Amino acid sequence: MNGHTVESLTHLTDSGIDAAKKTVQDEPGMKELDASKLTVTKTSNPREIPEVNSHEVWDMKTCTDHMVMVTWTSDAGWHAPEIKQYGPLTMSPIASCLHYATQCFEGLKVYRGYDGKLRLFRPDKNCARLLMSSQRVALPSFDPLELEKLMKAFLKVDGPKWLPKSRPGTFLYIRPAVIGNGAEIGVTAPAEALLFIVAVAWPDLSSSSRPGSPPRAPGLKLLASKSDVRAWPGGFGYAKVGANYGPAFVAHMEGRKSGYDQILWLLGSDFQVTEAGASNFFVVWKTKEGKEQLVTAPLDSKIILDGITRRSVVELARERLVEGSKHLVSDMQPLEVVERTYTMIELEEAWKEGRLIEAFVSGTAYFITPCSAINFREKELDIPMGDGTSGYYAALLKKWLNDIKYGNESHEWGVVVDED
Ligand code: PLP
Repeated sequence: MNGHTVESLTHLTDSGIDAAKKTVQDEPGMKELDASKLTVTKTSNPREIPEVNSHEVWDMKTCTDHMVMVTWTSDAGWHAPEIKQYGPLTMSPIASCLHYATQCFEGLKVYRGYDGKLRLFRPDKNCARLLMSSQRVALPSFDPLELEKLMKAFLKVDGPKWLPKSRPGTFLYIRPAVIGNGAEIGVTAPAEALLFIVAVAWPDLSSSSRPGSPPRAPGLKLLASKSDVRAWPGGFGYAKVGANYGPAFVAHMEGRKSGYDQILWLLGSDFQVTEAGASNFFVVWKTKEGKEQLVTAPLDSKIILDGITRRSVVELARERLVEGSKHLVSDMQPLEVVERTYTMIELEEAWKEGRLIEAFVSGTAYFITPCSAINFREKELDIPMGDGTSGYYAALLKKWLNDIKYGNESHEWGVVVDED
C-alpha cells in the first residue's frame, strides 16, 4: 500500500500512470481508496459566492462550502471518503507534515464552459501526479481514478452554485493534497495521512488585474536566479511537494522587490534554463541555421515539474504547428518542438543576434502568459512580444487551450463533470 516506485513515476506518460496503478496492491486487510464508499453531509451554513474578479477573489482565501476528506492509516489503509462542510483541520503539534515536509499537493481548475457545461482539464494527469508526489515523500498510494471520481463528486456538490451557468468563462482552483497528519515526531514514514480536496475562488492571473489597481503591463518580467537553485540532479524538483516551494519564496520576494514577477530558475555553472516560478518556460527562436523552434527544458533530468499545461503545449504544437497545418494563421511558420537542456547563454546569444521570437510560461495558475523581459546577470533582455500584448505562438496556444477548457472545441482533454 505504501509501495514506492518513484523511478517509474516521474513522468505522466501512459506507462508511468500504469506503473503507478500497479503499485496499488491489495494487501490483506488494507483498504484501497474507494470513491463508492463516499458519504456526503451538506452544510447547513452555506456562504455567499464572491463577485467575479472582486478583491475577495484576488485574496485567494475563499473556499467553497464543502471539502473532501479521506483518512489513511498504516494498519487499515484508506477509510471511507467524506464530503463535508469546509473548515479548519486539527492536528497534533508533532504531526509529521509540520516537521518533515511529508506533504504534497496538486493544482487544477474547473471551468464553466460557454456551452453551460462544467469541465476539468486532463484531471487524470493531476491525479497521477499526486500519486507520484505522494510516493516521493513516503505517503500512501491510491488509485488515481478513485481520486478523480472523488473530485467529480465534490464538484457535483459545489460546482453548480460556485460556477453558475450565468457566469460562463469562469473557473475555480482545486487543491487536492495529501499530508502526513499523524502525531509522529520520530524520523520515519508517516503511519497516518489525510487526503483532502478544497476548491478556491481564484483570479484570472493571465489577463486581469485586481480591481482599483492600474492595468498590468502585458508580459511577465523574469529575474534569472543567481546562486540559489530550486532543484538539483537526484533531488525532488519533479514532484509537487511543498518542500520545493517554501525555500523558493526567498528569491521570489527579492525578485518582487526589484520589480520582477517570477524567478527564472537556472541550474549549474552553464546556466541551464529550467522553469519559472510555478510555471514551465518556453522560448521560440530561430536556430543559427534559420530553423524555427519551440524549446523547453526536458523531463528526463527530473529537475522540472511535468506540467500538464507544458505537456499540452508540446502535444498541441507537435500536432498543429506543422508544415501545411490548417491551424497556422497568417504568416506563422511551423515550429520544431524540442525538449532539451539549453542555457541562458544560448538564449542571450539568440537575443543578441535577433533570433529570439518570443518566450512564455505555462501552468495552471498563470495559464499561458508571455514574457516581456528576462534579467540575466544584471542585464535586462527585452523579449519580443508580437503585437505588443503577446507573442503570436503564445496567443494561439492559449486560444486552443481555452477553447478546449471552455467547450468551444470538443476534445478528450476537456472532461465534463456531471452536475445532475
Ligand atoms: N512548475 C511548477 C514548479 C509548478 O508549481 C507548476 C504548477 O503546478 C507548473 C510548473 C505548471 O504545471 P501545470 O501546468 O500542471 O499547472
